[in-house]
Amino acid sequence: MANEIEIANPTRTRAIMETYGLNFKKSLGQNFLTDINVLHKIVDAAEITLEDDVIEVGPGIGALTEQLAKRAHQVMALEIDERLIPVLDETLAPYSNVTVLQQDVLKADLQKLIAENFDGQHHLKLVANLPYYITTPIIMHLLESPVQLDAIVVMMQKEVAQRLTAQPKTKDYGSLSIAVQYYTDAEIAFIVPKTVFVPQPKIDSAVVKLTSKKPIKQPQDEQQFMRLVKGSFAHRRKTLWNNLQGIYGKDAETKAKLEKGLAEVGIAKTIRPEALTISDFIDLANALIEFN
Ligand code: SAM
Repeated sequence: MANEIEIANPTRTRAIMETYGLNFKKSLGQNFLTDINVLHKIVDAAEITLEDDVIEVGPGIGALTEQLAKRAHQVMALEIDERLIPVLDETLAPYSNVTVLQQDVLKADLQKLIAENFDGQHHLKLVANLPYYITTPIIMHLLESPVQLDAIVVMMQKEVAQRLTAQPKTKDYGSLSIAVQYYTDAEIAFIVPKTVFVPQPKIDSAVVKLTSKKPIKQPQDEQQFMRLVKGSFAHRRKTLWNNLQGIYGKDAETKAKLEKGLAEVGIAKTIRPEALTISDFIDLANALIEFN
């Protein structure tokens, strides 16, 4: 429901920054959302209800936080920029279910913060308009952390969203697609034009919804699996066989072991890495387990 105190509009966003004498910090990825309809669509995509406790990364001046607060049970927002803390104190004052913490999400002890700020009786979701300069590190940090999030709904650059959600045999498919889709079902919820941000970024964005899932099958050693996946895409134009030698070595003994592993799982040497599914990579990782 729009009302006059809504944070998300271009005029109010600029006015708030001026009142506090603040500039937008490009180095922190500060492109603030100013379109209430887009904010509603993000909250809808995350299906936020009173059953949910929500973590937000990078509240900025609180435009998305406000919409989350209206729908969720409790919101915890982690903002790295200390200049914005007093701003958020003011803009979010009407919402008693919001806690703002000055934290770097990549360094924060999320488990501890969750235990301190949530009651453990609600679903846990993460919703954010991510700072684009660290989109991938944040997502990998969240997926690899012991914290169990029911859903992650995040805005990012469209190109990154396409890589996250790409399927085998497409140009965007690579190690990031596999790392993310190993842990979650990943889909693009909708595209967001660059015109709804202040300041305006150079490219369009997309909101991605990641829903946690049980992996279809388990690699024997997750780290070795990830190393294999990463190394297999190190040179996209080369064959899998060439990339495997890049990871494990080119000597005769290594080559023989690699050939044996490939034969065991029925994968041809000439295949390109983008033709392999996550399941194929898990089988191959398990067949090459002695290389861990
Ligand atoms: N949520 C606001 C909105 O949608 O208008 C702002 C989004 S803006 C794209 C990204 C925000 O993340 C900025 O407020 C920035 O200061 C913050 N940020 C950048 N790096 C961060 C980090 N490592 N940890 C927490 N917040 C960070």
